[in-house]
Amino acid sequence: MQRRPDFREGMARLSDRVWTYLQPDGGFGLSNAGVVGPRDASAAGANAMLVDTFFDLAHTRRLLDAVAHEVRAPVGRVVNTHYNGDHCWGNQLVRDAEIIGHRSVPDDMRKLPPEMLEALRHAPDSVPAALALREGMARFDFRGIELVPPTTLFDDRLEVDLDGLRAVLLHVGPAHTTGDVIVHLPDDGIVFTGDVLFRLCAPLGWEGTFERWIEALETIAGLGADTVVPGHGPVCGPEGALEMRDYLAWVRDRSRSAFESGKSLEEACLAIDLGPFGEWVESERVVSQVARAYRELEGHPFDAPVDFTRHVEIMAKLRERASTPA
Ligand SMILES: [Zn+2]
Repeated sequence: MQRRPDFREGMARLSDRVWTYLQPDGGFGLSNAGVVGPRDASAAGANAMLVDTFFDLAHTRRLLDAVAHEVRAPVGRVVNTHYNGDHCWGNQLVRDAEIIGHRSVPDDMRKLPPEMLEALRHAPDSVPAALALREGMARFDFRGIELVPPTTLFDDRLEVDLDGLRAVLLHVGPAHTTGDVIVHLPDDGIVFTGDVLFRLCAPLGWEGTFERWIEALETIAGLGADTVVPGHGPVCGPEGALEMRDYLAWVRDRSRSAFESGKSLEEACLAIDLGPFGEWVESERVVSQVARAYRELEGHPFDAPVDFTRHVEIMAKLRERASTPA
C-alpha cells in the first residue's frame, strides 16, 4: 500500500509501517514529521522512530498523541533532519529516545534560541520584524522550550535497521542548512526530506549554496522513491523535488541579472518576477533566496550570518504590495 494522502492536518499512513503527520498549509513553522512503526507493536521492546519534532510543546504533544494512538508503540528513536526549531524544539518530550542528527546540529541549534522568538512574539508593532511575523507566530508558544540536541551524530551516511526495515540517513547539506539530512526508506520507496524540499510553498534558507541545494534535490529525485514527504507542504513524488530545483534556478538567475544591473537586495526582491511560482504559499519568502544569491555573488561564505530581521522587513513590503489592489 502506498499513496499520496490529502493535505489534511494529522497522521496519514504511507505504507504498512510508515506514517507522516502533516501540518497544512506548510507556512511559517508548520512542518511535517515522519513515523516508522515496529514490525509488531505488541512485542517486547517494540518502539517507533520519529523523523522530526515540532516547533513548540503543544504541537509536538499533538504529534506524540497521534503516534501513540495510531502506532501504539513508544518513540525509541528520533532523527532531526536539521536544526531549525520547527523540526527539533519538541525534542524534550522524547528525551529518553536516541536522538540522531548531523554532527553540526548541536552547535547550530544554539544559534537561534526559543527565547529570542518568544521575545519577538511579544515585541511592539514598531519592530517591523515582529509585526511581519505576528500572524505566523500567533499559533505557537515558545515558553518552556529546552534545547535537547541529538547525541548520536554522524557525518555523511548512517544506516539504521528498524526491525527489518532499512532507513538510510544521508547528509545532503549545506543546502537549506549545514546539517540537512534526508531519511530514505528504500524498502518502501519513501523519503522524508526535511527542509531540503518545500512543496508548493516558498523555501526559507540559511547556511548553504545553490549548487549543493540543487544537487540535493536531484539526489532526492533520483532515489527511486515514489513517495516524497517534504519538510513543508503536501506529499508528492520525485517531480516535487525537480520543481523546487527549477524554482531555485529561476530565482538565482533573476537575482544574478538584478545584481549585475546594480540593484540593491531590496530593489531586486521588489522587482522579481516569480513566473510559475507566484502562487506558492508565502511567496514573499523569495527574499531568502535572492539574499542567498547576493551572498554568493558578493563572495561571502555559505555560512555567513543571515540577517533574518532585514529579510523579514522586505518580505513584509512584498506582502503588503501583494495585498494592495492595483
Ligand atoms: Zn521547517
